[in-house]
Amino acid sequence: MHEQLFFALVNPIVALIFSVSFWLIWLRWREYRHLPALTLAFLCMGVGFVLHDFKLLVWPGEVNLAANILYVATITLACASTFLRKNQTPPIALYLAAITAGALPFAWYLFVEPSTLARIVITSAAFAAIAGITFVGLNRLTDKTLADNLFAAGVGIAFFIALFRPALVLTGILDIDNGAEFTSSDYWTSIRAFTPIMSFLVATLFVVAIGIDIVNHLKGQADRDFMTGLLNRRGFETAGAEAIKRDFAVSRLPAMLVADIDDFKKINDTYGHKIGDAVIIAVARTLARHGGALLTARTGGEEFALYFNDVDRADLQDAARSIRVALSQASVPGLPEGYPVTLSVGLHLSYSQESLNDMMARADKALYRAKSEGKDRAVMTQVRLHLAGGIARPS
Ligand code: GH3
Ligand code: MG
Ligand code: MG
Repeated sequence: MHEQLFFALVNPIVALIFSVSFWLIWLRWREYRHLPALTLAFLCMGVGFVLHDFKLLVWPGEVNLAANILYVATITLACASTFLRKNQTPPIALYLAAITAGALPFAWYLFVEPSTLARIVITSAAFAAIAGITFVGLNRLTDKTLADNLFAAGVGIAFFIALFRPALVLTGILDIDNGAEFTSSDYWTSIRAFTPIMSFLVATLFVVAIGIDIVNHLKGQADRDFMTGLLNRRGFETAGAEAIKRDFAVSRLPAMLVADIDDFKKINDTYGHKIGDAVIIAVARTLARHGGALLTARTGGEEFALYFNDVDRADLQDAARSIRVALSQASVPGLPEGYPVTLSVGLHLSYSQESLNDMMARADKALYRAKSEGKDRAVMTQVRLHLAGGIARPS
């Protein structure tokens, strides 16, 4: 009897602890849309076990229909959450098809030809179908990370349990009819002993995956400029070095655009630091929207850098032109209408295997020329042909 009570309590407690944990993580990380679904999934599981173990809402006969519905909700919500996490729409139509296909025979073997064994096989098949659909869908996604694989492993375990338990019953290893009532059968005892371990394992995989997501998110934040949302210098150098390696490997020419706001001190001095900040944000937005670059960064106070690949000199000049035109039409809150916010721009197209810093230094030189020639213009580095070796080198 003590053992009975232990299992009756431990299952809902394990489920509810995870439900509350997912909810608490969601309170801090609201952008993780899969956490409310996981919270609800484990809540359904906990309530399902309470209904089952304490024989609440038992109908018809000894069958706890409400608990079974909650278990279906558990697996469906948990599986749907793995798609929400990847900002994908869950395959709701397929889930509903699996649930409907299971519900009809379940009703038959409940009301017309009562059979506990048939109902166990049907519910397990529906669980396996939902987990299987999810597993296949998750494995179709490209660029999978460790966290993605942990979520897929959790779903894989659910699929395995759904097949394993009815197999034990069908092969006679587990007995569902000890001559006494169902809740004292080997099958039910094994479910109660097995489920907390398995749900603990699945939920732990999910928690570890969420932890990895959060660490990656924080790492991403360290590479971003808080004010503009663009990459910061550190993020630009890391992502740029990787991009250069990739681009040279496939013979794509990398290019760099650096920009500095003209007479920015005057804006700060005349209108205040806050308006200065709004100007920086407006310029950042213009560069991100109209630059068309692979990477866009705020590399200093009012200095920016853009990395391009697969462009020629005309494309690069076009990018600079679009940026300057868009900026001349942008309005900045707090600045008088028509106040000229302008940029000086340095452009550099790389013909040889230069490092990111070399490219930036060359683009900077062109930027200084743009400043000394009167600002509000774009200047491109010259190409000098070194005939020895036949490689074109920029000046
Ligand atoms: P130039 O045309 O030659 O570029 O002249 P400038 O006035 O723009 O001179 P400079 O590029 O040296 O100006 C940089 C100024 O930017 C100095 C600094 O006070 C200001 N600044 C740097 N970071 C920020 C920031 O985050 N917000 C604001 N409002 N100002 C900043
Ligand atoms: Mg500057
Ligand atoms: Mg400046």
